[in-house]
Amino acid sequence: MEGHGLDLSHQALLRPKHVTVITPGRRHVMDVQFLGSGDAFGSGGRFNTCFHVTVGDGAFLIDCGASSLIAMRKFGVDPNRIHTVFVSHLHGDHFGGLPFMMLDAQFYSRRSVPLTLVGPRGFRERLTQAMELFFPGSSVVQRKFSTDIIEIEAGQAIAINGVTATAYLVEHACDAPPLALRFTCDGRVLAYTGDTEWTENLLAVGCDADLLIAEALFFERKVKYHLDYATLKANLARIGAKRVILTHMGPEMLAQLDHVTEEFAEDGKVVRI
Ligand SMILES: [Zn+2]
Ligand SMILES: [Zn+2]
Repeated sequence: MEGHGLDLSHQALLRPKHVTVITPGRRHVMDVQFLGSGDAFGSGGRFNTCFHVTVGDGAFLIDCGASSLIAMRKFGVDPNRIHTVFVSHLHGDHFGGLPFMMLDAQFYSRRSVPLTLVGPRGFRERLTQAMELFFPGSSVVQRKFSTDIIEIEAGQAIAINGVTATAYLVEHACDAPPLALRFTCDGRVLAYTGDTEWTENLLAVGCDADLLIAEALFFERKVKYHLDYATLKANLARIGAKRVILTHMGPEMLAQLDHVTEEFAEDGKVVRI
C-alpha cells in the first residue's frame, strides 16, 4: 500500500474533515512535497513558493522562489534528480531561485543530466537578466549539462518527461503573462493557481483535480492580483477539486489559521496523489 495507511491515520486523528478516501490498491502516482508555502516575504518563517513533485524515478519542481535552493537542502532534495522546473510567473518568489540552482548544478551538485526550464513568454530574457544581475557572466558560461528553456503560452499544453502541463492565464502583474498550471500524469491531476486574484479561469484549472494547490495570501482582505481564502472558499464547490491545499500565506492569513477549515500547506509536508 506504499505507506498510504500512515498518512491517512495521521490525518484522520488530527483533522477528520481532511481524510482522503483511498481506494484499496489504488497506486499513487505523484509525491508532492511543499518546499515553500510562504509569501514573497518569508512570513511565518516559510520559504518562497516551491513544490517538489516526484514521479517514477524522476522529479520536477513547480516554481523555484529565491529561497528554494535552501529549502531543497533543508528537506534533502537532490537537485540532480529534478528534470524540469515549471515556473508560473516571473516574480522573484517564484523563479528567483533559478540562478542559484543553476550555479549549484555547475559547481556543487556537478550536474550532468539535462535541465528543462518552462515558463511564460519573456522567461528566457528575465532569467538571463536575473543571472547576470546576481552572478555576472553566469548566463553565458559553459556548463557540463544542457539547459533547455521553453516558453509556453496560456492555453498551451506541453508534455515533458511523462508529465503534461497546461497553462491558463490568470490575473497578476509581473510584466509577463501570469499562469496557473495544471499537470496530468498517468491519470492524476495536480493543479496550481499561481498568484492571482479570482478569475473564472480557475474553474478549468482545478476542475476535478486530485489536488489543487491554491494561493491564499490573505484571509478575507481583497487585494488586486491576489487571492484571499474567503473568495477561494466561496468558489471551491464550483471548482470541484477533490482535495485543496492552501499556500502562499501572508501574515493576515497565518494569524487566522485557527479559523481556516480547508487544509493548508506546511514546508516539508508531503502529499500523495
Ligand atoms: Zn508570490
Ligand atoms: Zn507574484
